[in-house]
Amino acid sequence: MSTSSKEMQILTLAEVKAEIYSRKNPTLTPVDIEIHANAVHRILELKQKHDIVVLGHNYMEPLVFGLSEKDEQGDSLALSMRAIKTNSQYIIFNGVRFMAETAKILNPDKMVLIADRQSGCSLADDFGAEQIRELKLQHPGVPVMIYINSYAEAKAECDVCCTSANAEKIAMEMPGDELIFVPDLFFAQNLENVLNGKKKIIYPGKGNNTKGAVCEVHEKFTISDIISMRNSFGITKSHPNRMLYVHWECKPEVLQEADYYGSTTQIRNDIAYRVEQGTLEKAFIASECELTSNLMEEFPTVEFGTACSIRCNHMAKISLDKIHNIFEAIESGDDLSPWEITLSDEIISKAVKPIEKMLSLSY
Ligand code: SF4
Repeated sequence: MSTSSKEMQILTLAEVKAEIYSRKNPTLTPVDIEIHANAVHRILELKQKHDIVVLGHNYMEPLVFGLSEKDEQGDSLALSMRAIKTNSQYIIFNGVRFMAETAKILNPDKMVLIADRQSGCSLADDFGAEQIRELKLQHPGVPVMIYINSYAEAKAECDVCCTSANAEKIAMEMPGDELIFVPDLFFAQNLENVLNGKKKIIYPGKGNNTKGAVCEVHEKFTISDIISMRNSFGITKSHPNRMLYVHWECKPEVLQEADYYGSTTQIRNDIAYRVEQGTLEKAFIASECELTSNLMEEFPTVEFGTACSIRCNHMAKISLDKIHNIFEAIESGDDLSPWEITLSDEIISKAVKPIEKMLSLSY
C-alpha cells in the first residue's frame, strides 16, 4: 500500500482514512474503513515509532495487507528473503505460523511475533518429521525436498526447501535421478508432470505407506467448478485477453485446465505484465479469495472473478484487532510471549540448512 508510505512522517487519522479511501479497494466498504481506521492509524504510528517490520502475506485481508510496505508484502519466498534484510528488533508476521517460523529461523536473534499462534496450515499440520523419517528409511540416500509450507521440525529432517515459485528449478539442481518431495500430494503430482520424467519424484503414498497432505483451500477447486466458471464469467479457453490462473497446490486436472499456473508471485507478475501490455480484460484466480481482493486494488482496470466462499481459515485468524494488541503490548512494554515464535537452537541450526540451500539455488 501504502497507508504508511509517507516517509518518516506520522500520518494523522484523517490522512490515514483518506489514504485508505483513495485505494478504492472494491472489497472495502465505507463502514469497514470507518470502523477500522483508528486501529490502522495507531498501528502505523507504533510501527514507525518502534521501527517494526511488518511482513504481509498476499492472502491477508486488504486492511491487514496494507499495514505492510510494498517491499514487506509477498508470498512465502519473498517474505523469507525480506526477513533476512531487516535490522529491526521486531518482526511481526502477518501470515500463518509456519511462515513466521521461517522468519525466526532466518533471524534467530530477532523477536518474531504473530497475531495468532494457532494459525496453522493443513499442509504443515498434517505432515511432520516422523513421516519424513519413515520415508527416508524406505528410500535411503534419496535427497528430500520439502515445501516451505511445513514446520521447523519437519524442515530440520530435509536436504532442501522449496516454494511454488522455485520447485522445478531446485528439483533439477538436486543430485541423483530421484527426489523425495513432501508434503503436498497435488503439488508433487504437478511437479512430476512438469518434470516429465527428467527426475523421478517420490512422494507420500507413491510406492510407500506414508500419508501426505493437501492444501484445504486449493483442493476445493474442482474441474467442474473451473469449467462452469469459464462459462459463467466468459473466460473462454485461449481467449487472448481473459485469463484463468491456477495455483500449484490445486489438483493436477485443474492445473491442466489453466491458462497459466504458478506461485502467487508468478501469477501476480503475469497479471502486471499483461496489464502493462494493455491486454488483460478479465481474470479468475483459483486460489485464496483475499489474494484476488488485493489484486483488484492493485489492478483496477481488470475485471476479476471472485470465489470468496473459498477462504483459508488459518489466514483469516490474523485479524486487525489481534495485530493491534501486539503493537499496544510493545508500546507499553508488556510480556510479548503470547505472540512470540520460539524454536530451540538445535531445531534452528538444522532447519536453516534446507532454507539456505533453497535461497542459494533460487537465483
Ligand atoms: S491457503 Fe492452504 S497452503 Fe496456504 S496457509 Fe491456508 S491451508 Fe495452508
